[in-house]
Amino acid sequence: MSYQRVLLKLSGEALMGNLGYGIDPKVVADIAQEIADVVKMGIQIAVVVGGGNIFRGVKAASAGMDRATADYVGMIATVMNAITLQDALEHINIPTRVLTAIAMQEVAEPYIRRRAIRHLEKGRVVVFGAGSGNPFFTTDTTAALRAAEIEAEVVFKATKVDGVYDSDPHKNPEARRYRSLTYGHVLTHDLRVMDGTAIALCKENNIPIMVFDLSVPGNIVRAIQGEPVGTLVGS
Ligand code: UDP
Repeated sequence: MSYQRVLLKLSGEALMGNLGYGIDPKVVADIAQEIADVVKMGIQIAVVVGGGNIFRGVKAASAGMDRATADYVGMIATVMNAITLQDALEHINIPTRVLTAIAMQEVAEPYIRRRAIRHLEKGRVVVFGAGSGNPFFTTDTTAALRAAEIEAEVVFKATKVDGVYDSDPHKNPEARRYRSLTYGHVLTHDLRVMDGTAIALCKENNIPIMVFDLSVPGNIVRAIQGEPVGTLVGS
């Protein structure tokens, strides 16, 4: 077993499935099952959820909305995803706590680092909502930040492709997948793994990032067992 405490970054789009907007309950149930399999192995797992399936601050700002205000709406969107994921997990008897970076104590606990760690130690899934609580950031950066804070050994970045390629595999049939990459390579070539701030934060704290395809059943478990299911970004 390679990892004991992992941070999974789920984009909002991962919860959307093939819908054009919002949340597909069937997809969320499948993801919850994948997470449950990890918990049953005795691995501690925390999740940072995005909100792009509902609202993206940058997009709203480009249409004229004040950027910081739009980002707050985006952060609140992530809380809807977090609570939905919690519901799906608890449906299959996996105790889960949502911790939000913007206080909304009627629906979730406030983010307190020590409390997050305590939940993990007790075998609960922790879902981080409301991003970092700060506008002008992303949930990718939040994933790197929370991973460092809770001392996760790895960030699992779930995507729709099975890793990082040297060119777009949808456009170029010759595209080759990297098994591993350095943070420096990702930054200098501006590879779209996670945004640059997130990569820099992982680099500084020496947290590897595994980029993999979540839609393949069993992939999170395989990644935890150290199988090369995607691309590993590290030093
Ligand atoms: N957001 C923010 N600060 C954060 C995290 C997120 O302002 O720390 C806002 C931002 O507007 C972003 C939205 O929340 O567009 C949804 O997050 P993100 O785009 O990262 O979601 P994903 O692409 O993973 O679905």
